[in-house]
Amino acid sequence: MKKGLFPGSFDPFTKGHEAIVLKAINLFDEIIIGIGINSNKKYLFDTEKRIIHIKELFKNYPTVKVGTYQKLTVDYCKEIGSNNIIRGLRNSTDFEYEKSIAHINTAISGLETVFFLTDEKYSSLNSSIIRDLYLNKVDISHFVTSPELLV
Ligand code: ADP
Repeated sequence: MKKGLFPGSFDPFTKGHEAIVLKAINLFDEIIIGIGINSNKKYLFDTEKRIIHIKELFKNYPTVKVGTYQKLTVDYCKEIGSNNIIRGLRNSTDFEYEKSIAHINTAISGLETVFFLTDEKYSSLNSSIIRDLYLNKVDISHFVTSPELLV
């Protein structure tokens, strides 16, 4: 069974994230979208709402599951029996950053990271911009599917 973990903050889960999961679906028997919770970090959207939101987006995809974790990503990955970490790449900045994390993760755990390029139309999309728009009462439905589930 090929399991992949897609870890992230997903505050919120955007159409860019959604597209990455949809690309990965055919390569894995199961994908776990892992919401990493760092107790020192403040999140804009409530964790329970983020879980409900992501579950709803993939309700027609039985091989996509959602979980949360507080430990190191590689430890969570091993705990759930996942063979690979899945990450998305938007640009060369993402590439450099992700490359160093992936190398470190392989060094400490032997786990390999699988990368998917974002769709061009989502290459400028990031959760932090969406949080700004949301706080300024701008409609985010162009960038986030079913944002009403997050409130
Ligand atoms: P993190 O805080 O771990 O970077 P994010 O929630 O911001 O978590 O992103 C999780 C993963 O999704 C990362 O691999 C990131 O590069 C990728 N990602 C974020 N936004 C997009 C997007 N618009 N298109 C494709 N991948 C994306």
